[in-house]
Amino acid sequence: MTQVTQAAQVFGHGGGVHSIKVPIPDNPLGHTLVYVVDTDRGPVLVDTGWDDPASWDTLTAGLTALATSVTDIHGIVVTHHHPDHHGLSGQVREASGAWIAMHAADTAIVRRTREAEPGTWLDYLTRKLTDVGAPEAHLAPLLAAREAGRLRTLPGLRSALPDREIVPGELLDLPGRRLRAIWTPGHTPGHVCLHLEERHPADLPGHGRLFSGDHLLPGISPHIGLYEDPDETEVTDPLGDYLASLERIGRLGVAEVLPAHQHAFTGAGGRVRELLDHHEERLTGLLALLATPLTPWQLAERMVWNRPWEQIPHGSRSIAVSEAESHLRRLVKLGRAEAVGGSDPVTYIAV
Ligand SMILES: [Zn+2]
Ligand SMILES: [Zn+2]
Repeated sequence: MTQVTQAAQVFGHGGGVHSIKVPIPDNPLGHTLVYVVDTDRGPVLVDTGWDDPASWDTLTAGLTALATSVTDIHGIVVTHHHPDHHGLSGQVREASGAWIAMHAADTAIVRRTREAEPGTWLDYLTRKLTDVGAPEAHLAPLLAAREAGRLRTLPGLRSALPDREIVPGELLDLPGRRLRAIWTPGHTPGHVCLHLEERHPADLPGHGRLFSGDHLLPGISPHIGLYEDPDETEVTDPLGDYLASLERIGRLGVAEVLPAHQHAFTGAGGRVRELLDHHEERLTGLLALLATPLTPWQLAERMVWNRPWEQIPHGSRSIAVSEAESHLRRLVKLGRAEAVGGSDPVTYIAV
């Protein structure tokens, strides 16, 4: 990997692929790697970065450093709907007329979020947190926000509706390139990885390169919570989806992974194994905790996070409990835990 210019945060990966490090303001992740893939009809972006003026400036300066321009973008392929990936897509489309492609399951979330009545999301979150045993102190700020009408600041309310659907297993319409969509649900229901089925530019052993989004990162285990659909009718199993998706990616045998955060890396198979082992260990650890019945909230309080529970801020606690729930669903599905009959809020115990 070679750095094209220091100031513009642009890196060359060879074979007509570059990345631009687009900052995410006030976020420990630091940046999104937006990939620029040359095609016969102009550059195509994989993800676009956070919707913020500084991020936009970095993206457009990066494109200029690559001797192109945001107005030349032919298309945008979005790995998933999260704002650090899809945030600037609308602005790039406005500037260039580019199409935006996304998996239908994530497009459904974008549509739902845009059309939601103000307060729907907070009501859903409050109801859900009550059901999992969140204490009054945690619910109070949500109820206060509802009361005060502070509802328009949630990310995603203005996110762009895609024009095209990414169909799993199919090649995307990238003139002169072979880019195949691999559906990798788990982190979101419509997360996709994109397999660039071309010889590695440095002839590294393996089958092409993989734009992995948030699915496979070199040093981070992505957040796997619930799919957070207020209208959910079936009991989904996001962690089960994620683990199955990881195995699918492992089988591709790619030469190099181009993730959306951190840095490009080789050894995809080993990293997949590490993550599968990590989740197996974590599930085993949770079973030990579930020797006594616990609500999802109580389980989250007892799980190992990157800092003590007392130091985890309010919003992150809601995310943590969602992660605890996805693990509980997995254990229930595997027949290793079950809900205690008649408990309210519901508690779970190892079986
Ligand atoms: Zn994400
Ligand atoms: Zn991300």
